[in-house]
Amino acid sequence: MKAIFTLLFLSVSLMAFNIEKVDVLEYKVANGKTALILFESQEGIELLSVRVGKKRFEIFPMPNSEEKKYALIPFSYYAKTENKTLFINYKENEKLKKESLLLKVVKGEYAKEEIHVSSSKVNPKSAAVKKRVSQEYSQAMKIYGTVTPKSYLTKPFIFPLESKITSAFGKARVYNGSLKGYHSGTDYRASVGTPIKAANDARVALVKKRFYSGGTVLLDHGEGIYTCYFHMSAFNVKEGDFVKRGEILGLSGKSGRVTGPHLHFSARINSVQVDPLQLIDIMNKNLLTGK
Ligand SMILES: [Zn+2]
Repeated sequence: MKAIFTLLFLSVSLMAFNIEKVDVLEYKVANGKTALILFESQEGIELLSVRVGKKRFEIFPMPNSEEKKYALIPFSYYAKTENKTLFINYKENEKLKKESLLLKVVKGEYAKEEIHVSSSKVNPKSAAVKKRVSQEYSQAMKIYGTVTPKSYLTKPFIFPLESKITSAFGKARVYNGSLKGYHSGTDYRASVGTPIKAANDARVALVKKRFYSGGTVLLDHGEGIYTCYFHMSAFNVKEGDFVKRGEILGLSGKSGRVTGPHLHFSARINSVQVDPLQLIDIMNKNLLTGK
């Protein structure tokens, strides 16, 4: 394979190499973060996908560029600290080929939150609530698992509001000494009624009042990228609408399972929940340059 491609992780550095000369390369990515691989197209080579374990991630043309291509590889918060082999599938002169890359998954530096409660107070849910929660979960996973084959993105992402971050992505929640979950998004301080903006151009995939996340808007940015807006008090959009970056999706609130008003903002890549701010950072620095 003669294509020179560039590998970017956590947007720290930009390295170019010729894969013919090096068999194995080591790069790092933390659990809960997204790795971005940039490829330079070359004649005679058709880049297809990147496979990690049983998961396959498509290689897409870069927004605003005909020659370059990219793939986003999301790593779950629960991804094991280990070496992962990424297989890059491509066609050269109509023959299917692959190259491998070694990627090290390292432990992200996330804060921990210790919560001590009497065990009877953890999850006292009725059968009806359990059913509702499970239906809402299946519906959301079906949406996140849908990779729209085109991108709606042409401009850098913006934040859904300008406000203080009150809880970062990844904070571990330890109940009575055992890890019971982690904070799956970024919380912004927002009194009830604060306008919430679309972080980028998208199709509105879901508008719904849900049990845990309350007033919920899910945006499909195409190519497997979704952003999510939780606990809202009012909606300004409906499912199937196309929204532009900065368009008001609705108003923030305190709906669902919350202790106070705020916006919970999160992101998914091919169903995997990832740090939304790191995703925006790597996308804006490397893919969506310009304005
Ligand atoms: Zn939150």
